Amino acid sequence: MAVNSVDCIFCKIVEGKIPADLVYEDDQVIVFKDIHPKAQTHLLLIPRIHISSLEQLEVKHESLISHMLLLLPKLARDQGLHTGFRTVINTGRGGGQEVDHLHIHLLGGNQLPGL
Ligand code: AMP
Ligand code: ZN
Repeated sequence: MAVNSVDCIFCKIVEGKIPADLVYEDDQVIVFKDIHPKAQTHLLLIPRIHISSLEQLEVKHESLISHMLLLLPKLARDQGLHTGFRTVINTGRGGGQEVDHLHIHLLGGNQLPGL
């Protein structure tokens, strides 16, 4: 079952109640370093509002999700990921999702193996 926003660790990061290594923020999203990086650069891009996963995404979130996708290449460039990067969205327990607040992993900085 999805947690609600009160119990959500990423909502707490958005609210500044627990610390994170922020690299970008605007009125819709924040971006911070993953606490257990799986690549030289490993960022998490999350919406400020609590959406549990892609399963809960609705048409009303269209401009938010567009904003997130359009931001990724800029974030990658700013991180010096000039040869490429990987983005991952895990959805549900079967998809490996551990934190129930929609997030896009941005990975790079070293050669990543093919999937
Ligand atoms: P997922 O498995 O897709 O739900 O990814 C959750 C990610 O959040 C994992 O890569 C964790 O290392 C990361 N994570 C969990 N707690 C924190 C935290 N407090 N600050 C930064 N990253 C976190
Ligand atoms: Zn949340």
